[in-house]
Order: sequence, then C-alpha cells, then structure tokens
Amino acid sequence: MTVRVRFAPSPTGFLHIGGARTALFNWLFARRVGGAFILRIEDTDEVRSTPESVSAITRGLKWLGLHWDEGPAVDEQGNILESKVLGEKGPYFQMERIHIYKKHADQLLQDGKAYPCYCSPEELEAMRTRAMLAKRPPKYDGRCRELTDSKRKELESAGRKPVVRFKTPMSGETRFQDIVRGDVRFENALLDDFVLLKTSGVPTYQFAVVIDDYLMEITHVVRGDDHLSNTPRQILIDEALGWGEFVKNLKFAHLSMILGPDGTRLSKRHGATSVEEYRKNGYLPEAMVNYLSLLGWSTEDSQQIFAGEELIQKFSLERCGKSAAIFDPQKLLWMNGEYIRKIGVPDLTQRSLPFLKEAGLTPETSLPKERLDFVQSCVGLEQEKIKLLTDVPNLLDFLLLDDFKMDEKSVDKVLKVPGAIGLLMDVAKRIEQITDFTAAPIEQLCRAYATEKNIKTGQVFHPLRVATSGRAQGPSLFHYLEVLGKERVLARMKKVCNQLSVH
Ligand code: GLU
Repeated sequence: MTVRVRFAPSPTGFLHIGGARTALFNWLFARRVGGAFILRIEDTDEVRSTPESVSAITRGLKWLGLHWDEGPAVDEQGNILESKVLGEKGPYFQMERIHIYKKHADQLLQDGKAYPCYCSPEELEAMRTRAMLAKRPPKYDGRCRELTDSKRKELESAGRKPVVRFKTPMSGETRFQDIVRGDVRFENALLDDFVLLKTSGVPTYQFAVVIDDYLMEITHVVRGDDHLSNTPRQILIDEALGWGEFVKNLKFAHLSMILGPDGTRLSKRHGATSVEEYRKNGYLPEAMVNYLSLLGWSTEDSQQIFAGEELIQKFSLERCGKSAAIFDPQKLLWMNGEYIRKIGVPDLTQRSLPFLKEAGLTPETSLPKERLDFVQSCVGLEQEKIKLLTDVPNLLDFLLLDDFKMDEKSVDKVLKVPGAIGLLMDVAKRIEQITDFTAAPIEQLCRAYATEKNIKTGQVFHPLRVATSGRAQGPSLFHYLEVLGKERVLARMKKVCNQLSVH
C-alpha cells in the first residue's frame, strides 16, 4: 500500500503557522515513506473562499519547499495554471466536484441514510433557543427525519428548498485509533443530524472531505486536533456509503494545537501568524521548516537543528505529542540566525538581494559580476551578525552607498575634536602609498602611525572608522576598508576632511 496524505486548506485567508505545520507534517511523512502528498483546496465556503487565498496558500507552501505531488498546478506567485493539473484524481478544487458529492448524497437519500430537511433558518434558530433555555445542547431535533412523502411534496410546492441531513445513529459509539491520541470514542447520541448538502447543493466540509478522502485513496489523515470531533461524523458517513473497509484502514493523526507564549491559542496578538509575513520579515524557509517541525514533534534526544534531509529521515507520526505546542518567536529568531550563519556567502547574498533592492541599495536583484562580488564581500563581513535578511540593508548601507548617512553623535565625538582632521589627512597620505591594500598592511600602517605620534591606537582607529562608515560601530575596521578598496576609502576620508575643515 502506498501512503497517500493530503493537506486540505480552506482558502479563506493566508497560510498561517498552524496550517503550515499541518502541511509540513503531512509532507515530511510522505517524503519519509515515499508516499504521495496531495493538495486539495476545500473551497466550499462560498462566501469566504477567495482565489487570492488560494494563491497566498500555494505561494507559502512553495516558499517553504513543500511541493505537492498532486493538486492544482501554480506558478511561483501562486497563480493557478488553469491548463495543468498534477495527478490523476482531480479535480482538486472541491467546487469543481459538486456533481460527485450530489451523486453520493442521492445514494444516501435513496438508501434512507440521509433525508431532506425543510426547516427554515428561523425555525432552526428557535429550536436552538429552546434547547438552550432547557439547558440542552443546541442540537437539531430531527423533526424532518420521518416526514411523509406527501408532507415533503407539500413543503416543496410551498417553495421550501431542503438541505440534506445525515441520519446519525441515535445510539452506540464511534471509535477509532488515533496515532497521536490513541483510542478515541464518541457517543453517537451526542452527535446531531448534521447537514451534508446545503440548499445551494454545495456540500458541507464534513461531507466533501469524506468523499474526497475516499476517492483520492487517502491512507492517513493528518490534521489539527480541532478536527478531532469531526472524525466520528466522517467515519459514520463512510460507513453509510458502504466504505466501512476503507475507513477501518484509514489512519488518523490529530496534531496538538499551537499556543502563543502566554498559553492562549496562537493569534495575531502574538505577532505575525502568516507564513508570508515571516518571508517578508527576513526569515529563511529552511529555518521556518526546522522551527515548525518542532511544534508538536520531537526526537528522543530533543534535537533542535536538522541539516538537509535529516528532518525527513527522522520524522515520524508516532513521536508527535498530545500536549499543546508553544510558538516561541524568540526561538524562531535564534534559529534563523543559526541558519543564516550556516549558508554560504554567495547564497546569503542572493537571498539578501531582494531586501537590498527594496531598501534602494541595489537597483536590481541581478547584478553585474563585479558589483555582485563586491556585495558578496560586504555580506561576508557581517554574516555573523545577521539574524534576519531584513538586517542586511541596515548593516551594509554604508558599504554599498557612498553618500551614506553620518551619525551626528559619532561625528561630534570623534571627528569634531581638535587634531582629528589633521590626523585623518596624515593617515590618508600614508594610505595613498600602500600598494597592497589589504587588512594586515592597513592595520600595520595605523599602528605604526600611533606609535610614531605616541598616541593610543584608538585615536587613529576611531576617526578612521567614523570617516569611512559614518558610525562608531560596524564590522572589523581593516577588513571592511579592504573590501571598500583604496579609492573609495581615500575618497571618503578626503570628503570628510573637506567638509569638516571648512567649519
Ligand atoms: N479544510 C479543513 C481546514 O482547513 C481541513 C480539513 C481536514 O484536514 O480534514 O481546516
């Protein structure tokens, strides 16, 4: 049996942390066992589903590297490629499968396992209010279950459009083994006769999911534990459709919920919850994937960082935990820094280019070789300090721009003091003589100058730094001077001398 799992988002918003974690666990499991990972779009909420959400979700999945084997084909921006579908068991948009759901609903109606219900929204509301007043659970009371044919005709000729309700068994229990939660049981009597098809003929989530999991030959349902109580309903539908054998073999894994650091359900209050926001905020997809993998899963030895394919090799549903996972933005930030330090400078540069372009520090994201080499050397200087790709423009602006901003405090403290400009002019003259403009000889020159003038090295280093970078702190002085090159360094020193000696 080949493993087939699915990620089945409802396109009513962006790809959030919880959804991404569910998608990731499905993907990891499929990759681990050589199974298929299917993307199914559950767009039956006609009011809230939008094509923009489909794009945002698929773009997020692609960015994380969670490529699906079956499902809609999309480009990098998440635009649906109408002419192409991946896989043989489509369509993968539920709204394109309405005829399939109708066929199965008709079968249930014919077999007496479902019935048309003509209750109006007002009647249902009144039923709910009565139940609440009597302190009963607000459950559909089954009043349309046993309508006679003539009563049905009468209601229909009065213009009532029915929904189709499932005839839920009134006794017994529905039981299943969950890989994460073990033996789970629900009393059927607590479930109501829920709706399968709405008056519009569009299925509810409960119904569509069952039909699709069966027809798409899903073997494992891995999803958030907010769906736990839907599972007995779905099993009952399977059984009613004669798919008892299928659902007996279907494995469930309900993943623990994700809480914010304060122990409440993860929400906007805890910061960014959309995967795209993390991309925009300068996170690397592999750091995100690594972090998300630890939300409800762990190895025996609590490994934190996984290199390359290691995550796929080590992942198992059996080691997913029952207790809620805490989303800790600080840990994610730390992990991102770890990943940034691990990737090569050319790679880090490529990933930084969109952020540099956005900040106006490079005109394009593809640069001529010479400029690219220069940007790469600049990135190399600061790699240790970068935690987010969004840090890069701030750290590198003075290297990439010649008219960088001068920090006034540093200028006042270091350059606008007696002797500083004279010293800079002296040092500039000596720098002009250097033939090998690399860190060691520049440092040697500065030290020799300090010894000769009998001053502290800092009295040379500080003005040199502020004059060439506009700030009192930054990367290793002589290394960045080397990267800037002799001409730029001299031009910067001279510009400062000219400006400050006038005043
Ligand atoms: N469409 C459902 C959701 O977005 C997921 C259904 C499932 O995994 O069974 O929550």
